[in-house]
Amino acid sequence: MDSRDPGQGSGLSAAVLFPNKREVACASLGFLKAFEVIRRRVAFADLSYVPSGPGDPILSPRRGLLLGEISHREVGRFDIIGFSVSYENDYVNMPGLLIRAGLAPLAAERTKTFPLVLSGGFTMSTNPLPIADFVDAVVVGEIEPVADSLLGVLEDAGRRGLPKDRVLPLLDALPGVYVPALGERSVERIWSDTDGIAPEPGVRPGSHFGDMFLVEVGRGCGRGCHFCAAGNLYKPLRMRSGESIIALAGDAPSVGLVGTAVGDHPDLEFILGRLIAEDRRIGISSLRPDQVSPKIAALLVKGGIKTIAVAPEAGTEALRARIGKSITDAEIVGAVEMLSAAGISTVKLYFMIGLPWETDRDVEAIVGLVTRLARVRGKARLTVAAGPFVPKPHTVFQWAPFEDRAALRRKVDILRRSLSGPILEAARKPVSLKRVLLRRALADPTIELDTEKPLPWDFIVSGVDRKGLKRKYLELRTS
Ligand code: SF4
Repeated sequence: MDSRDPGQGSGLSAAVLFPNKREVACASLGFLKAFEVIRRRVAFADLSYVPSGPGDPILSPRRGLLLGEISHREVGRFDIIGFSVSYENDYVNMPGLLIRAGLAPLAAERTKTFPLVLSGGFTMSTNPLPIADFVDAVVVGEIEPVADSLLGVLEDAGRRGLPKDRVLPLLDALPGVYVPALGERSVERIWSDTDGIAPEPGVRPGSHFGDMFLVEVGRGCGRGCHFCAAGNLYKPLRMRSGESIIALAGDAPSVGLVGTAVGDHPDLEFILGRLIAEDRRIGISSLRPDQVSPKIAALLVKGGIKTIAVAPEAGTEALRARIGKSITDAEIVGAVEMLSAAGISTVKLYFMIGLPWETDRDVEAIVGLVTRLARVRGKARLTVAAGPFVPKPHTVFQWAPFEDRAALRRKVDILRRSLSGPILEAARKPVSLKRVLLRRALADPTIELDTEKPLPWDFIVSGVDRKGLKRKYLELRTS
């Protein structure tokens, strides 16, 4: 085991942490890519996660300290601890992981330069403020374009033995890096060009996706639904070519296509056709209803896909248009018919409730739409899931209020009362209000934010035109 002091000697060591369980981490292409990008640039790297409980091999037997999975070295002894965070709900696990690593959770209480705690991942581009007290620096945007300069600064700091108060300004001066201790200056989200997207890291045993080799087809989405942070914060749209996706898949027998807009890939039929011709299994998690065609549906089934998610989001065409997802009922019905006719065995339907300007009639319309879909589902099983709308920073709806808790419960009851019967199993499960409750503990989330006042996350220059977002929100509010 390497017993040198952190920050000393040649090269850096880095532990990349996912603030959730191992099976979720191993299925997160973003986390695995962040690990690969860092691993290629430091002397030694390891990964770790939220332990599954006492006795987990990533805890030291005697002191219960968090260990790296590969080296079994204590995470607190690495030079860099880098969180990769994909979901806001995982923020709550970050302080606990630092404590498990034997460190003070608050950045201000960690006075030595190393271990230096970084955070990156999708949620850092939306709003890193909830975790700002716990980390030393945040990568806002994608890791690929900043990795060399960021690790270069830290390597140099380690070699020269610079104290933390001299290292933080050096990090703060880097594009795409936010240092909470130095305040909220404007930080531009940075992104890689298509050629710079990190190569695929390969399969990690124990993944939620089994032996499926995940390939990122591209980043970004050209649609811009008003509620969707991913649609805005993965901009610009960058698609890898069909040929390069096939090449990246190598000879993997099972290939999962990952991206914000897989169904919009211009070469999707070609990619699916080639993979099927080579007798490989395919994974795609979801498609927009207007992306489904008889040919695509047939290819999915030939590729071994049994379940596909389709997200109408709202029950009526009018509300769908208002949230920026203009899909007609006929397109949704047609998609379910085509998927069923092709032999898909389960179609998962995702809706949101508590959307801005939603009425009980919109929620009742979910029941009507599902009933209509049940008539055309053939042998396919339908499941329905409804989650509460969460207003996301850097979207048109960033000023919108959360739905009041009582109203949400009433809307859940509308669905529960009506969506009974053999086809609607998921609808009986309770809708998770965890995010809503978390926000409620911090401030009253049911109040619309003032469009004339700055927002806390405005210092993140996301690349999305804030004036345009506001104009659209006000236009929708008065329409
Ligand atoms: S919801 Fe889907 S289609 Fe709409 S912007 Fe987001 S990723 Fe794109």
